[in-house]
Amino acid sequence: MIELLSPRQIDQMRPAGRFVADVLQQLRGRVEPGVNLLDIDAWAGELIARRNARSCYVDYAPAFGRGPFGKVICTSVNDAVLHGLPHDYTLRDGDLLSLDFAASVDGWVADSAITFVVGDTIDPADQRLIDTTRTALDAAIGMCTPDHRIGDISAAIGATLTGAGYRVNNEFGGHGVGRTMHQDPHVSNTGRPGRGFGLRPGLVLALEPWVMTGTSTLAVDPDGWTLRSSNHGRTAHHEHTVAITEDGPLVLTLPDEQT
Ligand code: MG
Ligand code: MG
Repeated sequence: MIELLSPRQIDQMRPAGRFVADVLQQLRGRVEPGVNLLDIDAWAGELIARRNARSCYVDYAPAFGRGPFGKVICTSVNDAVLHGLPHDYTLRDGDLLSLDFAASVDGWVADSAITFVVGDTIDPADQRLIDTTRTALDAAIGMCTPDHRIGDISAAIGATLTGAGYRVNNEFGGHGVGRTMHQDPHVSNTGRPGRGFGLRPGLVLALEPWVMTGTSTLAVDPDGWTLRSSNHGRTAHHEHTVAITEDGPLVLTLPDEQT
């Protein structure tokens, strides 16, 4: 069932959006070579406790995972792209790190992900992965107006990713978000314009283009969660929670100073 929220309910989602954005920004500011993925999970846990929020990941137990997840944030490094289970790994200069964080504040959920390079050594190919997924996310957000359909969002993402020379995996994509993390509709990262559910004010979507180098096939780690590119090519992932309003897209997962 696709749920439409009132303008007042969308306003009620704003604190969750800001919190998720602020946590990602704070974590990014603290990550440097020598930081362990378990440190990041612990820091996120402290921020969650201080805000009296709830991580959507800690109890997350979908059919495909070896649930429950048990950690509060996803940390995916280099060839890992989705659902990276924090484990004892110390980050190095040049590592490509994706942080995916979803939390509930006052009963409303926001979901966002960022990818960045740890330290000062940035491979141009990594920068291109990052830039491509951000561009795809911007293109998707641009479609979040009441005159478009879900297929327009999917097509915009797919065109950006394939236009940059990457193949698209359709197993995981965006989704509705509201009182829970994963709601209808599914938003594939490839699709046909003009198809699917017609966007209308009150629909809130988590849009999340992600990409892998040289493959569209995933492999799962022995931990039962972490998804990597099957060829160990490097990866990137960006996500925002976006409300469709009469006035156009409202990105809820921006840090305080940008809202
Ligand atoms: Mg997410
Ligand atoms: Mg999501």
